[in-house]
Amino acid sequence: MTDIIQLLPDHVANQIAAGEVVQRPASVVKELLENAIDAEATEIKLIIKDAGKTLVQVIDNGKGMSVTDARLSFERHATSKIKSAEDLFQLHTKGFRGEALASIAAIAHVELKTKRPNDDLGTTIEIEGSVLKSQEAIVTPTGTSVAVKNLFFNIPARRNFLKSNNVEIRHITDEFHRVALTHPNIAFAFYHNGNELFNLHIENYRQRIVHIFGNKTNEKLVPVEEETEVLKVSGFVGKPEFSKKTRSEQFFFVNNRYIKSPYLNHAISAAYEGLLKDGYHASYFLNFTVDPKTIDINIHPTKTEIKFDDEHTLYAILRSSVKHSLGQFNIAPVLDFEQQSSFNTPYSYKDKTVAPPKIEVDRSFNPFEDGDQAKEKSTYNAVNFKKEPAASWESLYVGLESKGNGKTTDFSELTFESETKTDPIFKSSAIETSKTTFQLQQKYIVSTIKSGMLIIDQNRAHQRILYEGFLKHITVKEATSQQLLFPLELSFTPNEIHIIKDVKTNLEHTGFVFSEISEERLTVTGVPVGVSDSEVSIILEQLISDVENDVPDASFSAADVLAKSMAKSLAIKNGQTLSAEEQEHMVDSLFACKEPNVSPTNRPTFITMKVDDIEKKFM
Ligand code: ADP
Ligand code: MG
Repeated sequence: MTDIIQLLPDHVANQIAAGEVVQRPASVVKELLENAIDAEATEIKLIIKDAGKTLVQVIDNGKGMSVTDARLSFERHATSKIKSAEDLFQLHTKGFRGEALASIAAIAHVELKTKRPNDDLGTTIEIEGSVLKSQEAIVTPTGTSVAVKNLFFNIPARRNFLKSNNVEIRHITDEFHRVALTHPNIAFAFYHNGNELFNLHIENYRQRIVHIFGNKTNEKLVPVEEETEVLKVSGFVGKPEFSKKTRSEQFFFVNNRYIKSPYLNHAISAAYEGLLKDGYHASYFLNFTVDPKTIDINIHPTKTEIKFDDEHTLYAILRSSVKHSLGQFNIAPVLDFEQQSSFNTPYSYKDKTVAPPKIEVDRSFNPFEDGDQAKEKSTYNAVNFKKEPAASWESLYVGLESKGNGKTTDFSELTFESETKTDPIFKSSAIETSKTTFQLQQKYIVSTIKSGMLIIDQNRAHQRILYEGFLKHITVKEATSQQLLFPLELSFTPNEIHIIKDVKTNLEHTGFVFSEISEERLTVTGVPVGVSDSEVSIILEQLISDVENDVPDASFSAADVLAKSMAKSLAIKNGQTLSAEEQEHMVDSLFACKEPNVSPTNRPTFITMKVDDIEKKFM
């Protein structure tokens, strides 16, 4: 028998490793920036072309490499950063796997130029798909430049999988933020297609945050400083009134490494308890310094996950130090006394009058009027009632339940079925023939139907109604806009502006009018009919957060995300009292929708309780 196991050739092994390390241009950015930092650079330049699809280049003024090291740096598991397994527990560098350069060189054209401070000449290496093309001596400044061109040139499937330039540059910007934030003692410049996006000088942490996220950030930062035996926490948290719909300003760094930790994030949320409105997130920029022995970063190839020896203690320390800071700055009551309601109102809304949501009600509409007359008066028309002339939403619903789609259901049969089973006493009762609804806990609309009882979730139902309306406006491009008396100026981070620009056309189709969009500012002069100016920033913030969260979804459709997002922002919330007419109008409009039974996010809008089931409960 012959042996069948073979060692994979290096270039194949490298490509496999590359799959883990390099998912998109942003991964290359991260690895190269980290290498420059490990090389103790004080100035780092990031140059991007076509969102990294054509070029990712990082130039540093760090310690450079010798001729041999330059060649070795592209070998797998070649690293200067650890020598033995024990070193893994003493890590003071970002890299340690020695995999990044080998992986990148396996799937791109790479050109390296490097020189150490005391060498006269430097080295340049060209490598393409793991194949060394040339290595020569050159004149080059001290430090290292790595240019990565034509990413995934030899893996077309991966290249095709890349998202639009806008999405890829957003990922790159995220990586840049994370690295630049942790290293205010290093100057960074970032260029995309020849435009300077960032030029950050050596500065302190607060200045760095402000220079990345915009000037308005300054006033919202509250310092956090805490030193205990196991851990040092330092950085800033955002004042509650500046909380955001997105999580885009939440940063944890452990020993200067960006990490994701839902558990520690929870500790922060706990510190803000009672200070944030539902669905809003605190901003934070926090650095932990811990003994490298007490963490394990080796569990994830891209190293954004980390294991702490004693998470519970960290949780407690983090929570109390954030709480302490918020309290010291008179933001939170130090003791948990009764919550003051003013804390829940973002400052920008405090002085504004609250506009009650308007629901148009056709007061003369009576669905039980005979046939044609009722239909003429009715304000809804999306569903046809051909099968049953006197149809109301009630029988419509019965059909929906059985087929999931009202249009082709034979209502008479279903109605008949339920009628035969229903005790006559119910049939003749007043409750059944007059359409009554009532609100339960300001959350559900309860209504009677022939077969029993209908319970509608008011928020989800309204989302469905608004969603279909917006979607229609966007696709038909016919929405009307109302001019604002005073243009509304809103500030955003450059990244957020980017997102808004992406969906601008669709936003305009819903009725928004923008007079100016600059790097951090947006001027709104018109809004969709029915939207009040106090709702504009809520809509846009929600939208940004939804677009951000939807990026990984391949079926990303801007129009759909926008319609969903606006519906979410504007829908009547739970806890809101609705008049009888409003309730009825909601029920009618819901069942005039194309898909009344689910919310835009696919959750049930209503449930039913059949009389049969109720009867069973009484047995
Ligand atoms: P790792 O960073 O995990 O060690 P890499 O593949 O990223 O692995 O880099 C391999 C080696 O190449 C590093 O250990 C380092 O010695 C050297 N190197 C990479 N980039 C630079 C740079 N910008 N300046 C100096 N040395 C570098
Ligand atoms: Mg590295």
